[in-house]
Amino acid sequence: MQRVNIKDLTRQELEHIITDLGEPGYRAQQIWDWLYRKYMFSFANMSNLPPGLRKRLADKTFISWPRLLKRQEAEDTIKYLLQLRDGQGIETVLMRYRSWHSLCLSTQVGCAMACKFCASTRGGKLRDLSTAEMLDQVLFVQRELNSKGDKPITRVVLMGMGEPLDNYENVIKFIYILHDPDGLNMGFRRITISTCGLVPGIMKLTQEGIPVNLAVSLHAPDNKLRDKIMPINKRYPLEKLLKACREYVEVIGRRITLEYTLIAGMNDSLKHAEELTRLLDNLSCHINIIPLNPIPGCDYRPSSPKTTTGFVNYLRARGMSVTQRREMGQSITAACGQLRLVRGKGGRIDNSEGQGNDYLG
Ligand code: SAH
Repeated sequence: MQRVNIKDLTRQELEHIITDLGEPGYRAQQIWDWLYRKYMFSFANMSNLPPGLRKRLADKTFISWPRLLKRQEAEDTIKYLLQLRDGQGIETVLMRYRSWHSLCLSTQVGCAMACKFCASTRGGKLRDLSTAEMLDQVLFVQRELNSKGDKPITRVVLMGMGEPLDNYENVIKFIYILHDPDGLNMGFRRITISTCGLVPGIMKLTQEGIPVNLAVSLHAPDNKLRDKIMPINKRYPLEKLLKACREYVEVIGRRITLEYTLIAGMNDSLKHAEELTRLLDNLSCHINIIPLNPIPGCDYRPSSPKTTTGFVNYLRARGMSVTQRREMGQSITAACGQLRLVRGKGGRIDNSEGQGNDYLG
């Protein structure tokens, strides 16, 4: 019988397993406490559980724990390359702000969306991440912060490798466990899902009815240009995308964020800015201007500071809410997927020894 990853289970699912084993349901709570408050990855150390239960749990389930392959620290970011049980490498980036920590995590190994300027999509999508593998990114970094007495992670953004809405079920389950007051207790409003514009996924999220932040990577104000830099636009063009965004705002009652990466000579003229204001007319939104992080094999370059300021000021003058994301971690190749690329072969390391820790001790 194949053992399940215990962090792929909701609390109710774990309770079922526990009661099937003839133990009281509250044991699930004790186990969650070990997993999500104490970052434990061995049943052997769960000292308030009867030894027999620990053994039977280890027969049915295992506890994953990623292995650190590389850790790069710059002023305001720490970038982790983590290895999963099957040897795949994924990236997680901690962003340090003055009064909080935000974690940018991956949702897939690679990505199928083929945006021209993005490193994560080189080599396509290898696989989806499981719910447990997303939780592990939070737990791994949280444990490190905790051991240093540093402030905890209070925001999570799904803006690392992968397209979250192309891994919908696992992502939603991850969000519910992250949110659960007995899990990591993170408010929905502190969680951001970023999408390249998978319209059916946005519609599903609207039906889900949870007040997470939705960010949509727009990057172009017209279909011709967007088709060129983001192939997903051919399937879900701007009319459909904006319609889904409007519905989201209406039903969830929260404004949406639009990401716009300025690429020199491509989408950064005042004509583009003007088109953008027209496109977003009457939509409750916030625009996040992101500097392009050049990647190998793509000759797109970031816009000059002067052009960037001109673009931002144009939008502001027309009453739009705009922020300019400060450049974070460029010195450590923090743009999505870059660390994994540098490592070669998609970060896959064949020796997966030491993955997880499911022994009884
Ligand atoms: N697939 C999701 C989330 C991952 S990418 C999405 O597309 O939104 C997170 C953000 O970084 C997106 O807005 C993406 O377009 C942007 N991005 C990717 N590569 C970049 C690069 N080289 N420079 C600047 N922004 C980049």
